[in-house]
Amino acid sequence: MHVPALIAKKRDGLSLSKDELHWFVSNLDEWSREQIGAFLMACQLKGLNDDETTALTLAMLDQGARLSPRANAVDKHSTGGVGDKMSLVLAPALHACGAVVPMLAGRGLAHTGGTIDKLESIPGFNTGLSLDEMNRNPCFISRQTEEIAPADAVLYAIRDVTATVPCIGLITASILSKKAAEGIHALVLDVKFGRAAFMQEEHAARKLATSMVRVGHELGLTVIAQLTDMNRPIGRWLGNSHEIVETVACLKGSGPSDTMELVTSQALALGYDIAEVINNGSALKCFKEMMVRQGVNRKVAEQLIDDPWSVLVRETTPYVVHATSSGVVMDLDALTIGEVLCEAGAGRSTPNQPVNHGVGIELHAKVGHSVTRGDPVLTLDGPANLPQELINTLSSAVHIGSVQSVPPSRVLETVTLDRT
Ligand code: URA
Repeated sequence: MHVPALIAKKRDGLSLSKDELHWFVSNLDEWSREQIGAFLMACQLKGLNDDETTALTLAMLDQGARLSPRANAVDKHSTGGVGDKMSLVLAPALHACGAVVPMLAGRGLAHTGGTIDKLESIPGFNTGLSLDEMNRNPCFISRQTEEIAPADAVLYAIRDVTATVPCIGLITASILSKKAAEGIHALVLDVKFGRAAFMQEEHAARKLATSMVRVGHELGLTVIAQLTDMNRPIGRWLGNSHEIVETVACLKGSGPSDTMELVTSQALALGYDIAEVINNGSALKCFKEMMVRQGVNRKVAEQLIDDPWSVLVRETTPYVVHATSSGVVMDLDALTIGEVLCEAGAGRSTPNQPVNHGVGIELHAKVGHSVTRGDPVLTLDGPANLPQELINTLSSAVHIGSVQSVPPSRVLETVTLDRT
């Protein structure tokens, strides 16, 4: 086989065979970045059909290590959003219901937050477990290791700089090659659409969901995808420490209703009803034990649960956005809010940039709430001297009008194998 010929074949719209894709991925180290970039662009422009997508996923999976398969092992993946702290609540709640949860998660990039950054706001939390530690741990959230799906790390870094991220086949292979390596049998996918989502249009999110459900099935997994709205931020607290605070509230049974709606429906999609383990405190206990297993001092873990802000960092300058008129909060633009948070230090715009765990937002009012002129709508906890322009941009995310309406459910539809 010859790489230029393989690239030309894809460029000309022909399909690549399973063997060709396997050969290309298993010899990735031998190709130049130009060749890999050209291959990826050909995939982006001509697309990958179902068989190619499955073959690429399997080839990427086969390149790396896998965790040992365990009975009742389940996981969740989200395409990312603003205020998306569902994994932090879901993992311990599922474990309290009897599931094993080997969750590999990522850092935030651009306006979307990352589960790993959020956990790293807890002093001592180790997000870099070894494969051996993962295999022995019944419920963890850890970073991807270099051993799992290493081809994805190479391909993703090149996709990121060659405008080839938004290709359904490449996204499917990237996500599922990592998830299938966890030794799970079922996976729920939160595929977001809307302003602050990776896939802004519903139809694109549905296409991605359908592709991942189908390939997951080919790999022997039960995959359920939910299409969910990412136009408005999720929950009450946004940021890193701030989302840990909300996680504890959710596990204590006092979480915001929209956060709990998503967590509950993700758990139900996997066959677990988490209401009881939240009510009887066992989900909270599992969160504490997960922290301790991942390096947090037991006293610190207990203190975090009793009084999260006594343990977590929080920036001390409050920038308050007030209602400019009396009426109803009609919209909170999650994209603008996420971008301001990122700019203020809670997120990163390049892969290795450090994040400020203490920057975050508390929403005092949600869409549909009535406000009186001058009421605080949200507070950004930030470093001193943030530019006024940034605060003006944050204010522009809040829209107050006069139409009273109840925000619809965030879950638009569920995509399962029957629908594909
Ligand atoms: N997240 C991933 O892990 N891979 C993609 O390709 C896109 C989002």
